[in-house]
Amino acid sequence: MSPSQNIEHYDGPADNPPTLATALPPEQSETAQSCPKLFCLYRKPCDDLCWQRITCQSLSRHMQTEHGVYEKPGDECVDCRWLECSKQIKRHNIYRHYKETHLGHKRGVGHS
Ligand SMILES: [Zn+2]
Ligand SMILES: [Zn+2]
Ligand SMILES: [Zn+2]
Repeated sequence: MSPSQNIEHYDGPADNPPTLATALPPEQSETAQSCPKLFCLYRKPCDDLCWQRITCQSLSRHMQTEHGVYEKPGDECVDCRWLECSKQIKRHNIYRHYKETHLGHKRGVGHS
């Protein structure tokens, strides 16, 4: 009587097929975003404030679509209708004015 020798003939687990995860591109990390979401305090024509949350990145589109404020080259000035501001801003500079003055954006933080 010999102890049955367990010859380990191991087939092992079948090769794992590549999973979906490996086929997907790694998730893109958000681009350097260092400015917080803030409320838009732009005064609407009825003098109500806008109160939507915007960021530096969404500002220009927000201003165009919600408030009809476009940046234009040239020296034409417009009133800033942001709460308690009412400065005259040159139109080619207006988004920068909003970002730096009203959204707390500092120049050179990795996004424009
Ligand atoms: Zn707004
Ligand atoms: Zn302003
Ligand atoms: Zn910013």
